[in-house]
Amino acid sequence: MATVTCKYCKKKFDRDKEPYIQIPWGEKAFRYAHAACYLDEVNHGREKQQYTVWDPAIATTCFWCHQAIYPNQADVELVPQLTDRYMHKNCGLAHPADEKEELMVFLIKLFGLKEDYILPKYMIQIQEYIKKYGFSYSGIKKTLIYWYEIKKQPVNEEFRLSIVPRIYNEARRYYEALWNAQQANQVKNIKDFIPQDIEVNIKAPQRQLQKRKLFTFLDEEEINGDK
Ligand SMILES: [Zn+2]
Ligand SMILES: [Zn+2]
Repeated sequence: MATVTCKYCKKKFDRDKEPYIQIPWGEKAFRYAHAACYLDEVNHGREKQQYTVWDPAIATTCFWCHQAIYPNQADVELVPQLTDRYMHKNCGLAHPADEKEELMVFLIKLFGLKEDYILPKYMIQIQEYIKKYGFSYSGIKKTLIYWYEIKKQPVNEEFRLSIVPRIYNEARRYYEALWNAQQANQVKNIKDFIPQDIEVNIKAPQRQLQKRKLFTFLDEEEINGDK
């Protein structure tokens, strides 16, 4: 369901059920109208014929820019990892732009969400965790991967996101142990190739840099530390 208000008759309608037009409004927003109301305006010479009429039976919207699209358009493709969300190819080059967007796509895949309007409910919950516990988007994603994919716990209606605060630290310890094991192997290899005196000079900063790069689960600690 996607309820919008018609620009002309001012009535609310579901653009998933009735033919509509989409009018760009500012940078990222759109206004909507019944196709019939718009065509009536055009026929009376009060509007130019410039907008596409979208048939909700076959149209969808770009996952990233929310512009109406048809899945069979040449410049449209599936969102990677999702089987029922489409995007402009160009939008796919620019997204996901950050860890928040990565988490959004991951949640749709993990929970099998059918409708995008369900997503904000989860994102509000995530904002609360970030505010209350200092979690990060990537930390939450890794915690969900740990619980549902590594520990193979069933995804059920009751838990979903609410498992995150309960196992965040457990997941962190898992990734830390994993990272430490990888790091131990790397140091052994580096010693074979780098002369002793150079190693002494670069050791401390090098380690820090590698740590930040390889182990993003610690992001929130670094962010807190910078404040
Ligand atoms: Zn209307
Ligand atoms: Zn787009």
